[in-house]
Amino acid sequence: MPHHMIITPKMNTWLRSDQQLLSHQFTQNILPHAILVNGVTGAGKLELAQWLLHLLNCQQPQPIHNELDILQSCGHCKSCLLLKSKTYPDHLNLIPEKNSLGVDDIRHANSFLQKTAYLGKFKTVLIDNAQKMTQAAANALLKTLEEPSDNSVIVLLTNDIENLLPTIVSRCRVFNIRPNVGDALLQGMSDSQCISESGVEVNNNFINLTQLPELTDKVTNEAFQTFKECYLNYLHGQLVETQLLQQLLDSQHALRWLEQITVNLLREQFIVQSDATNKEILSPELLNKLYKVIINGCKVIKSYTQANKQFVCEQLIMAISDVINMQES
Ligand SMILES: [Zn+2]
Repeated sequence: MPHHMIITPKMNTWLRSDQQLLSHQFTQNILPHAILVNGVTGAGKLELAQWLLHLLNCQQPQPIHNELDILQSCGHCKSCLLLKSKTYPDHLNLIPEKNSLGVDDIRHANSFLQKTAYLGKFKTVLIDNAQKMTQAAANALLKTLEEPSDNSVIVLLTNDIENLLPTIVSRCRVFNIRPNVGDALLQGMSDSQCISESGVEVNNNFINLTQLPELTDKVTNEAFQTFKECYLNYLHGQLVETQLLQQLLDSQHALRWLEQITVNLLREQFIVQSDATNKEILSPELLNKLYKVIINGCKVIKSYTQANKQFVCEQLIMAISDVINMQES
């Protein structure tokens, strides 16, 4: 095999439409300056980002065999080789150390983006786990997003878009990666036999986060963060029922959040390499029971009038509490 022939790794099929769009934008010179790739761990965020960053920096991009509307890097030009060896001068990777990404890293990226490209046309920055930016870092990034320098492309990855400043999200072109989670996850769940008997349906709507108010409205976003923290604290035995009940009654979105957070926790159980914090304490069986109780509660509430909400929420909290207590005893 001649050295310039590269075997294209098989990309996940659900990334194709995003690749087509980005290829088109690249060809037409209308790529966004900031791209946010959002999806659960294992959805292929890094895969999509690396495909794009290699494409942008390659000197001889070419169509993928049999997929003429998707371009890819050649794999053998000087830029491709330097990128592979992680010594390409026009690209910068920002990976959070431990739990946060600080303001100095973002400032470094900002000045990096302002310099002229050495080899290629673009200056590119990849920010992995963008939700781990500190407040100061996020504010520094916001300035860059507001006044992007020519030919700079920032790619942010996150599995927790709710934890990003809505002002940052609104300045990025968001790609919500929605893998065939329904099938894959149900497969994983029935393999481990913890959900098949209950017949719980996991549907893709939970991953479609684009329209949710907590992403576009700062106050709702803060309320979501507070609710999430309270719920997790409760699950970890650091909050009592009445406090969770209050949270549940405080926001019109709280029931949906309860459902969404629980299904995400459940999902994390089946993804290798997810954050282990919640995984150790909460078992799939517990989360599965919780999820059932919560969707039942939500169904009941939807069929009731507003006046009964408090009562149904109290019932729901009691049912949740029963599940937690059964686990402990
Ligand atoms: Zn190349």
